[in-house]
Amino acid sequence: RTVYVNGDYLPEDQAKVSVFDRGFLFADAVYEVTSVLDGKIIAFDGHVERLARSLAELGMDMPMSPEALLDIHRELVARNAIDEGLIYLQVSRGAADRDFAYPAADTPQTVVLFTQAKAGLADAPMAKTGMKVISIPDRRWGRRDIKTVQLLYPSMGKMLAKDAGVHDAWMVEDGAVTEGTSNNAYIVKDGTIITRHLGEEILHGITRKAVLAYAAEAQMKVEERAFTLAEAQAADEAFITSASTFVMPVVEIDGVPVGSGEPGPVAARLREIYLDESRKAAV
Ligand code: PLP
Repeated sequence: RTVYVNGDYLPEDQAKVSVFDRGFLFADAVYEVTSVLDGKIIAFDGHVERLARSLAELGMDMPMSPEALLDIHRELVARNAIDEGLIYLQVSRGAADRDFAYPAADTPQTVVLFTQAKAGLADAPMAKTGMKVISIPDRRWGRRDIKTVQLLYPSMGKMLAKDAGVHDAWMVEDGAVTEGTSNNAYIVKDGTIITRHLGEEILHGITRKAVLAYAAEAQMKVEERAFTLAEAQAADEAFITSASTFVMPVVEIDGVPVGSGEPGPVAARLREIYLDESRKAAV
């Protein structure tokens, strides 16, 4: 695989990042994951906008223009012959002698991008069977709207889910669901799509934004508000969204079937609309 590191395209085993990189030592880095369908990049503008926002919240600049970032995405897709898959991008505050205080503002950032080929991303069998989740307390830091690489708690959540024989964990705080370990969470009740409102408590999903816009265009009712686990278990449907899963039905929460216990029509319709529309808008 060819990866991108600080201006160079290199075979992955020749790519190097300093042991003093602040991404490595302090999780002082932000990232984006963008999907590729038919060799084209999905929702690129949204991901770049969020990258700029995450960087700004942490006092970092964009490492380059959106156009230059798009060129790197395209180059990696071409060099690695990606038809379906993901592009991972990470920007850290760079390498400096270990100190909690940020290094000088002119310290060069570390910019890394790589691809992951994922055949069957769009045709995922799980879209037909649905996924099962458990709930766990949300023990992440308070600025989940910044997409930092501090992913240890979400990793622990995925492992707890795996140990419980399910696919993911929904996190709960102050009695309400925040989101999944790497996705936004939704329920459907009496035809209304309910998903948590934006704030510092959740990541502002790029897929979420697109799906809610498509839902509104299709005259579906949407409520952006917090919901409880009990409400989710009593819902007609549940689903998640993310760049890598698009729209994926959730059929069981803590052992309780949601609705019929089968993937529901609202999630199926939104998945279809999302895939159609985002394929058309892909770059
Ligand atoms: N919430 C969390 C915690 C995530 O990590 C992610 C994606 O990685 C999402 C939501 C979904 O965001 P997006 O649709 O931009 O992939």
